[in-house]
Amino acid sequence: MLRTVVSRLLPRLNRLSVCHYSAAAIPAPNTQPEIHYNKLFINNQWQDAANKKTFPTINPATGEVICEVAEADKKDVDKAVKAARDAFRLGSPWRLMDASHRGLLLHRLADAIERDSAYLAELETLDNGKPYAISYSVDLPTVVKCLRYYAGWADKWEGKTIPIDGNYFCYTRHEPVGVCGQIIPWNFPLLMLAWKLGPALATGNTVVMKVAEQTPLTALYVASLIKEVGFPEGVVNILPGMGPTAGAAIAGHMDVDKVAFTGSTEVGHLIQQAAGKTNLKRVTLELGGKSPNIILSDADMEYAVEQSHFALFFNQGQCCCAGSRTYVQADIYDEFVERSVERAKKRVVGNPFDLKTEQGPQVDQEQFNKILGYISSGKKEGAKLMCGGEVAADRGYFIQPTVFGDVKDNMTIAREEIFGPVMQIFKFKSLEEVLTRANDTQYGLAAAVFTKDLDKANYISNGLRAGTVWINCYDVFGAQAPFGGYKASGNGRELGEYGLENYTEVKTVTIKVPQKNS
Ligand code: NAP
Ligand code: MG
Repeated sequence: MLRTVVSRLLPRLNRLSVCHYSAAAIPAPNTQPEIHYNKLFINNQWQDAANKKTFPTINPATGEVICEVAEADKKDVDKAVKAARDAFRLGSPWRLMDASHRGLLLHRLADAIERDSAYLAELETLDNGKPYAISYSVDLPTVVKCLRYYAGWADKWEGKTIPIDGNYFCYTRHEPVGVCGQIIPWNFPLLMLAWKLGPALATGNTVVMKVAEQTPLTALYVASLIKEVGFPEGVVNILPGMGPTAGAAIAGHMDVDKVAFTGSTEVGHLIQQAAGKTNLKRVTLELGGKSPNIILSDADMEYAVEQSHFALFFNQGQCCCAGSRTYVQADIYDEFVERSVERAKKRVVGNPFDLKTEQGPQVDQEQFNKILGYISSGKKEGAKLMCGGEVAADRGYFIQPTVFGDVKDNMTIAREEIFGPVMQIFKFKSLEEVLTRANDTQYGLAAAVFTKDLDKANYISNGLRAGTVWINCYDVFGAQAPFGGYKASGNGRELGEYGLENYTEVKTVTIKVPQKNS
């Protein structure tokens, strides 16, 4: 039975181009994975919060509490920053460690995550609601690849020698920034952890990470692996807690050298302000989007429909780069809408541990309510509801795959990030027109174009104000390729060689060279 389900699912998964995962059979998941860790991880030790507070983490498929988790506040942040600062002091084991050994530790961490990937995928699905088949086949392998990629960089991130005028030997050193605060969201809990830890640790920084309140469990398990593989005390500290308390304490801390944040644009503003009001810590932001996905009339219809469906609905629509404005050229508009509706109606929504499930619940009650609010605003403002629009189960946070046609650019659902399974389809006539409309947004994270005409693809790709453009594909990520936003979608780039720059201070060293031996 399992084999039949897997063989039905794998060809479909393989069409998703998020990563090139192995087609090995997916093991049957344990739907009630044991919870081993629920405390703060500071200085390689498990600790209660200073004020002993805890908060419940919820299974979004049922609304039931999984367990209580220690809730970090300012005092715990102070303690974690102190541990990270101490681990960063000159002469510490971490600062004395060979760069190649830092790489080895990252490789060992990747190995340990790979070893426990079935368990971690179960925990991720339990806490976040994403389908197990995706946690196991997409998220976990991508996490491992990201850590391995940065492990390789640890002893290859070189400075330069510079031919300045005069008799001097001038060179640059790439040094770690120091104590890095990292604040991550709940949509890809493990993957965001890997995107942040990989470059920070490869370049020799220390870390205080606040994980999202909705999904603290997998990061805490990874903390145990960080200790197991031999990272010195204080190099990585992981704090579950709330944004306005623990998160804000990191962003406003005088002894944090850099903060890297992924989440909403609204909170991105607060992070940057906090840095400005305190010690001018370096800030990198990976924020929201309202990414245009442009389908030209010569595109392969079946493929464009499937990719556009994937672009929006993947991960329950909870992707910062979701293709949430689908622009379709007028002469294929009706057929495209009809086929997209057909596809959305076929989407399998349900128990995320069931291997045939394509869509699980939204992450929590708040997101669920917010998305339903956007659906009613779409209806009120005159968009055409083509399918879905309702709650999809009598418990948990499930929402039907929803498609709106005839969406106009000024509607709320056309302008704001919905972060849910709600597709907006727009009609356009000319390339010039669609380019102007695609760029008419505060965001600039990602974009895509589907066409067989290379000249048109290049015209659109060059004109789009977005950090990533996919041509005839969507959501193709590699640890090697940078990702980040133009405009209000963020500052800086993650992944790839570019991702190392934000974790590095460049020191210029100039040595007087005597003209002749005296
Ligand atoms: P969010 O509030 O921006 O959360 C992201 C992270 O920032 C979480 O760890 C959060 O803590 C923390 N945070 C919240 N307020 C903070 C503050 N004042 N100072 C420091 N850190 C703070 O996002 P959300 O509320 O979970 O989701 C809201 C919307 O954000 C979504 O609907 C979506 O549009 C967008 N979003 C975007 C991404 C992305 O990948 N770009 C990811 C998630 C959400 P808590 O755990 O306490 O919230
Ligand atoms: Mg949860």
